[in-house]
Amino acid sequence: MNCPTIKKKGVSRMQTIRFYPFVSTGKEKDEETGYGYFGARYMDHELMTMWLSVDPMADKYPSISPYAYCAWNPVKLVDPDGRDWVVVFDHKNKTVTIEAKYVVKKGDEDAKKSAENAVSVWNSLSGEYGLKVGKDNYIVNFDLSVIDDSEVDASNSDRNLNTYRLKSSFSNPNVRGETNRNSIYVLASDKDDFVVSSHEVGHSLGLIHPIGGQKGLMEEDGGMKSGHHEITTDNVRNIIDLALHPNNRDPNWHSGVGGYREKGTSSVDILKPLNINLYKRNKK
Ligand SMILES: [Zn+2]
Repeated sequence: MNCPTIKKKGVSRMQTIRFYPFVSTGKEKDEETGYGYFGARYMDHELMTMWLSVDPMADKYPSISPYAYCAWNPVKLVDPDGRDWVVVFDHKNKTVTIEAKYVVKKGDEDAKKSAENAVSVWNSLSGEYGLKVGKDNYIVNFDLSVIDDSEVDASNSDRNLNTYRLKSSFSNPNVRGETNRNSIYVLASDKDDFVVSSHEVGHSLGLIHPIGGQKGLMEEDGGMKSGHHEITTDNVRNIIDLALHPNNRDPNWHSGVGGYREKGTSSVDILKPLNINLYKRNKK
């Protein structure tokens, strides 16, 4: 099985993000350790291809595959030309805010609580990082919020919408959550598991499983084996990088698509590359 994944080269800001296939041993590992891994869907290249080809046609051919359940997936809610998250540069207040909204079905309190838990993991990073933009230092904030589908404002051109759903089971019993670009599904029995839910939110922000021994939340098992569930500096850097350079996103992965804008503008256009550098701040 081939699994496209992410690798970062170089240390300077202008590095490109490259993607390399590698051979997955996910199945064997799963059998050895007895626990599931989140990325199972993505580890199966054939399944991934099927998903990619089925999803856009789901309405047209609703019974084309067992995976056609995504036909009910309310992707229509989401502006297809929009962005799943946006990085907002506020030059006046010197902040950089990663913004996204997660839409739950109105009345689904379990999904709402699960999504709120998940985004709180990311939001708690606000202030942890600084971003040097030219000569200026900006503070990096996360503003991920949960709304229900009655709150979606169709007139808002900068919606950054994702959907967040609980599922009672996946066809692969090892899967505990999956993300298809801006649609997150978390196993209902894992609704209170911060690792599962926040890992999937990471995918919606464009992140894929790291290789090269990088530990942390975005490991395919959410760091269960390594014991590292933390969001890494590379994760935050990649989110901003992918918002600035969405073409660097691996098209074979249905991770989220980002954009960026400057506060006070409504467009989510991709502007010229900035000379920026992310660093960990020394907080008091
Ligand atoms: Zn994953």
